[in-house]
Amino acid sequence: MTQLIKTKTSDEVFTRNTKFTVYTERQLDRIEPLQSLTPEQRFEMRVVANVLPFRVNQYVIDELIDWTNIPADPIFQLTFPQRGMLAPEDYDRMADVLQREAERSEVQAVANEIREKLNPHPAGQQEMNVPMLDGEPLPGMQHKYRETVLFFPSQGQVCHTYCTFCFRWAQFIGDKELRFASNEADTLHRYLAKHKEVSDLLLTGGDPMVMKTHHLKGYLDGLMRPELDHVQNIRIGTKSLTFWPQRFVTDPDADELLKLLRRLVRGGKHVALMAHFNHWREMETPIVREAIRRIQATGAIIRAQAPVVQHINDDPDVWARMWRTQVGLGIVPYYMFVERDTGAKRYFEVPLERTYKIYREAIQQVSGLARTARGPSMSAGPGKVEIQGITELNGEKVFVLRFIQGRNPDWVQRIFFAKYDPEATWFDDLVPAFGEEKFFFTDEYNAMQEQAGA
Ligand SMILES: *Cc1c(COP(=O)(O)O)cnc(C)c1O
Repeated sequence: MTQLIKTKTSDEVFTRNTKFTVYTERQLDRIEPLQSLTPEQRFEMRVVANVLPFRVNQYVIDELIDWTNIPADPIFQLTFPQRGMLAPEDYDRMADVLQREAERSEVQAVANEIREKLNPHPAGQQEMNVPMLDGEPLPGMQHKYRETVLFFPSQGQVCHTYCTFCFRWAQFIGDKELRFASNEADTLHRYLAKHKEVSDLLLTGGDPMVMKTHHLKGYLDGLMRPELDHVQNIRIGTKSLTFWPQRFVTDPDADELLKLLRRLVRGGKHVALMAHFNHWREMETPIVREAIRRIQATGAIIRAQAPVVQHINDDPDVWARMWRTQVGLGIVPYYMFVERDTGAKRYFEVPLERTYKIYREAIQQVSGLARTARGPSMSAGPGKVEIQGITELNGEKVFVLRFIQGRNPDWVQRIFFAKYDPEATWFDDLVPAFGEEKFFFTDEYNAMQEQAGA
């Protein structure tokens, strides 16, 4: 269980869980605390885990989950499959093939059919964001917003543990076609050298921090060459800080990693670890505190982001406490997201109205230092759309929306209005307010989609 030890010492000795041990669907029966569940409960987990990717490590099991509070425990919900994640008819289909002990190929076929229904590629990212170099598409990269290039290193296409709500789940089910990954450091650097408008490189995954430091070096050291001076900000998206803080403390190449971060900072780059924190509980163990301290000692900044997810953090008090804890640890709250329209969204989604209320009530509880968290934001096809409020205009109740990021940079900061809908949970559920036929960007966005063949 989580130990509420507030330590800031650097000479503490960490010996628990220093060897990485991981469990996937096939090893569910070997997870010790699950033995106290009923066989039915364990079967339910297997059914879901045959459709949606499951992976958990010993640190999460031992130190983040409160096993006296199952199944409500938020970290249990964050990592373990739950029956409600599948529609009843899909659940029954998978349960049936498993009960019959059908061939692996049949289980796979049923799994794939169910997965196809779960919108594996939200927001047109497979078609619309792929950049070109010398007339060739670069499938391991995305360049949607002018300033920022996303890079998916091929060695970073898993995570230390999977989040049940992950929108990158399609990458983890072994279907090569569904992944975007790249192992071409050279291609990345050549693309960036040709695009002087790019100020930010965002390494993402999976989780780039599953990579050994020598792989990371291959991608990052080259960024200090003069022709890449314009790439000022290096961001690394990761869940490792909370799921495997050992990466920064006790792993054999942890010190090497910190040296790499320090070298980039000394080389004039802004280095930001974009850390995913879904709950303040993830920040309580002594080793995560030590990892935070060590990363910050390199000059890198930690920024925090996460979606609002039912069963995990759909509560303003959880967010307020999380942001306060982050600020206290020198971490910058960055984004509050709306849970994406993919995977197990039926289990996790929260109506936009409630998500907005959670944001507002959380922000009201914290000082300005924590109000750097923007949102709630939807990463939708046209851009990142923030819900600014719910109000009445001309006698009509509306959502007030704003582009935080736009496929066309000119859309950024523009306000627009959608008809109020208490049931809407995602951007695509929204229609223009005041009986208008389309949003201001609709025609332009449709043309962009057409051009990309999406
Ligand atoms: C969120 C996101 C970014 C980064 O946007 P910022 O607002 O700069 O954090 C870049 N590319 C894509 C595709 C994104 O979804």
